[in-house]
Formats: sequence, C-alpha cells, structure tokens
Amino acid sequence: MANSYLDMFSLEGKTALVTGANTGLGQGVCVAYAQAGANVIGVARRSCQETAEKIAAVSGRFEEIRADLSDFSVIPRIVTEANAAFGRVDILFNNAGIIKRCDAAEVTEEDWDAVITVNQKMVFFLSQAFAREWMQDQKGGKIINIASMLSFQGGIRVPSYAASKSAVVGITRALANEWSGHHINVNAIAPGYMATNNTANLRSDDQRSEEILSRIPAGRWGTPEDLMGAAIFLASEASSYVNGFTLAVDGGWLAR
Ligand code: NAD
Repeated sequence: MANSYLDMFSLEGKTALVTGANTGLGQGVCVAYAQAGANVIGVARRSCQETAEKIAAVSGRFEEIRADLSDFSVIPRIVTEANAAFGRVDILFNNAGIIKRCDAAEVTEEDWDAVITVNQKMVFFLSQAFAREWMQDQKGGKIINIASMLSFQGGIRVPSYAASKSAVVGITRALANEWSGHHINVNAIAPGYMATNNTANLRSDDQRSEEILSRIPAGRWGTPEDLMGAAIFLASEASSYVNGFTLAVDGGWLAR
C-alpha cells in the first residue's frame, strides 16, 4: 500500500504493454505511463521511432514489439518478448483499433471481419494470454480496453465499428466478473471525439465536423492528453476497487 493517496497513482516499478503504440492515443498513453514511472512496451505494425523519442525525452524506458494484431498467431511471441523486455508485464492497454466508414447496405464481409478481428476478438485473446500468466503467478494485473462513444450509440456509417466497440464493454464486464477475484482489474475508457487519425475524415468533412462540435458540451475536440488522467488512474493502485467499468472521457458528449 502506498504512503500517500497521491503515491497510489505512481506506476514506478511497473511494466505496461500498449497496443497501437506508434500513433494517436496509444502513443500518448505510452508517454504518460513512462512519465508515471512505468517501463513501456509498445506493440505496433509499424516503427514506434517517434514514440521511442518522446519517451527518451522524459527519460523513460521503452521497448518495441513489431506485430500485426489481425493475426492471432502473434500472441505467444508478444507474451514471450514482453516478459523478456523488462520482466513481468503488469498493465495491458488494449488500444489498437480500426474503423471503416461505409453505408450499412454496402458493408462487405471482409471489412466487417477486419474490424471485429482487431477491435474485439484480439482484445479478448490478448487479455486472455496475459491473464493466464497473472493467474499463475498470482500477482494480479490491470487491463484497460479502449471503447468508444459507439459502445453506447449506433453512430453513422460505421456499423462494424459500433458492433466491435459495444462488444468491448461486454468483454470488459465479463472478464471483470471472472478475474477480479484474481486481483486483475479489467476496465475500459470510452474516448469521445478526439483529434487523431481515427477522426481525420470526420474532421475534414465541414458539415459532420460542425454537427459533432456543436454537440460536445466542452465545445472542442478532445486531445490525447485529455485521456491520460483516466489511463494512469485505471493502471494504478488508485483504481484497485474499480472493476468492469467503462469510463467516458468525452467532454460531456454522453451527458447530452
Ligand atoms: P489511430 O488510428 O492513430 O490509432 C490506431 C492504432 O491502432 C494505430 O497505432 C494503428 O497502427 C493500430 N493498429 C490498427 N490495426 C492494427 C493491427 N492490425 N496491428 C497492430 N496495430 C494496429 O487512432 P486513435 O484515435 O489513436 O485510436 C486508438 C484507439 O482509440 C482505437 O481503438 C480507436 O478505435 C479508439 N477511439 C478513438 C477515438 C477518437 O476519437 N480518436 C474515439 C473513440 C475510440
């Protein structure tokens, strides 16, 4: 137990693995976790050079694992390489995700499967892989999944994404029910509309951009920085009695 309540938020001595670590929210979380004291492992399809440089700038420790998270055969290698990087992994941050915008009437099975595979099925099986280790060594762990406003709403022209992110909330609850007794906290963060690659098309569409902005009580798009308080909280001892919950960081969007 930490000495002061503020110390409960420290990630000193912990190791965090973040998927989709080369850009956007995932990159932000890597830097935030390094600043909070954790060793950070970034999993990505492409180079994490920029993330590595940002972490070096705050004197953090970072290792990269190159993997395509649409392929389940990479899971054992990720676990092995992650354990070899800094010793035990304590925090799994399931951030990687894709979105495909298309009228529901035109969605192909291939595109549907691509979104469900990365956003939903990989979240489950990567969580399973680390939880198996954690249940064996009985030292517990933290899993944080990235949900979405479309975990609660249907969205427009993104049915596979809405399905996958709705499932993330269900997976978060289901895993919390089974694993909380093993000192594994499973929670999710539902970001609102954040200025990253994920929303580039929306933000470049003047009409959709205006519709969205006018509905956000905070009156602005979110930034990766807006997510970091919640990300650190859910990875830290401060959230040890928070289980199976999806925390919205949305400038008030869901309250509207
Ligand atoms: P982003 O597109 O910059 O990040 C997505 C990340 O996932 C990238 O690093 C990408 O390389 C990685 N990724 C995708 N497919 C992968 C694969 N097959 N293998 C390995 N990595 C893969 O956008 P972002 O906004 O930072 O998105 C991060 C997460 O946040 C996603 O799950 C997204 O759905 C979610 N999200 C974003 C917003 C938003 O407004 N930006 C809102 C709600 C949820």
